Amino acid sequence: MELTREEIAAVAERKREAYEVVIGLEVHVQLKTASKIFCACSTRFGDPPNTNVCPVCLGLPGALPVLNRKAVALAVRAALALNCGVNPSSQFSRKNYFYPDLPKGYQISQYDRPLAEQGWLQIEAEDSSKRVGITRLHLEEDAGKSLHEGFPDSDAKTYLDFNRCGVALIEIVSEPDLRSPQQAYAYLTTLKQVLEYIEVSDCDMEKGSLRCDANVSVRRKGAGALGVKTEVKNLNSFRYLARALEYEINRQVAVLENSGRIEQETRLWNLAGGRTEPMRSKEYAHDYRYFPEPDLLPLTVKAELLEKIRGEMPELPAARKARFIGQYGLTEYDAEVLTGTRALADFFEATARKAPEPKTAANWIQTELLGALKEAGKEIQESPVAPAALAELLQLVQDGTLSGKMGKAVFQKMVGSGKSAPEIVAAEKMEQITDPAAIEKLCREVLEKNADKIEQYRKGKQALFGFFVGQVMKASRGQANPARVNDTLKRLLAGN
Ligand code: ADP
Ligand code: ZN
Ligand code: MG
Repeated sequence: MELTREEIAAVAERKREAYEVVIGLEVHVQLKTASKIFCACSTRFGDPPNTNVCPVCLGLPGALPVLNRKAVALAVRAALALNCGVNPSSQFSRKNYFYPDLPKGYQISQYDRPLAEQGWLQIEAEDSSKRVGITRLHLEEDAGKSLHEGFPDSDAKTYLDFNRCGVALIEIVSEPDLRSPQQAYAYLTTLKQVLEYIEVSDCDMEKGSLRCDANVSVRRKGAGALGVKTEVKNLNSFRYLARALEYEINRQVAVLENSGRIEQETRLWNLAGGRTEPMRSKEYAHDYRYFPEPDLLPLTVKAELLEKIRGEMPELPAARKARFIGQYGLTEYDAEVLTGTRALADFFEATARKAPEPKTAANWIQTELLGALKEAGKEIQESPVAPAALAELLQLVQDGTLSGKMGKAVFQKMVGSGKSAPEIVAAEKMEQITDPAAIEKLCREVLEKNADKIEQYRKGKQALFGFFVGQVMKASRGQANPARVNDTLKRLLAGN
């Protein structure tokens, strides 16, 4: 009998603190290859069902797989970025199971001799940094997709789309090093960030190009041996990962506190119910009967290839962040935000190269640009303002043509119109007023209208100074240079 949500919550509230959490993640990532791993079929997403198939990926008798070298290169690149040792020789194996979306009746994967082993990934979580071990990284093929809805007779039938059959994947298995749902979340987001940076995968969870299964157990604090684990599947968003783990941890604590035993089993995250549920035993009691794939030679990765791939490795996020701090004088926080994705980091660098001041560029990108993108629901790649155009605007602010405030107004107009800053400034006559005579005229007009307030100011009501500045700025429709207005007002009020 499964405990209810309420029972679990009640026990967990009292007892969770007495337990330590242990988590290990298994992450499947779709490689960015144009064709599948063992045939020439396209991997394009969203094509009509069963249009990208052939005898190889449909598993027709007599068809032979041919390994896609691009997939190997990407997998090796991922392995190196994750600090793994790459085995000079590895082996493909057949993982046998029956499922309608697997026409061959087996998946070609790697088993006892994976492509790469013993790596690590540095993560930052809960105010500390830690190294999470990576047990192995191997190549395998994807299965097809069962379509349970969307057809007139979907209540009676399941349809199958084999387009995804044979798409190249890597599986990355972590050590049981994670100690909280927060750490698991940080691991998954950092892994995604690295894989995106090195252009191995687009890591789009919605398209299924990044999938995660979470293994979790609990043990009494101080206990030596690991507890019995369960594996939670169906975690197709980052948010669900933490929520599902939270639930599963509390459930295990409640079971143990009720003198129960944790069954080693696979559980599914039920989003609607907000809980994990056991899969029916038939669905997970697999004996995969692994054996070496007789149609493929062992996979050899020569030292030269390894060095070539190492040499082509793009800068990784952590290195780029450190460089941003050193080269551009950014704060740790700004560098962290601006290296969040490779596209954002590229945008910043392209702007900083042309802008008068990298730090100002960093500020504008974080506040103005990211704000505008968020409002429009757009990604940095779709930014309506290009790096060069932003740099041009920053130049106008720097040289005093525009005040900071006017610059922001111009930026908004750039976002809305796609026009350049100089175009907008010229069309709307938005240049900042810096001419001393013009500024003095504005100041005198304001003072004349407020003779009573001058009196009060001179009697000691200093706060009125801000009022005068505000009035002048208002009279100039924000175009007067504020520093000059300040100086001029001070001079006039002092009676000079
Ligand atoms: P299995 O034999 O079930 O495939 P593995 O030992 O291969 O288990 O580990 C699969 C995943 O489960 C790895 O990510 C590993 O870190 C994790 N794992 C192993 N044991 C535990 C445990 N006791 N608690 C939590 N996670 C674990
Ligand atoms: Zn094919
Ligand atoms: Mg295993």
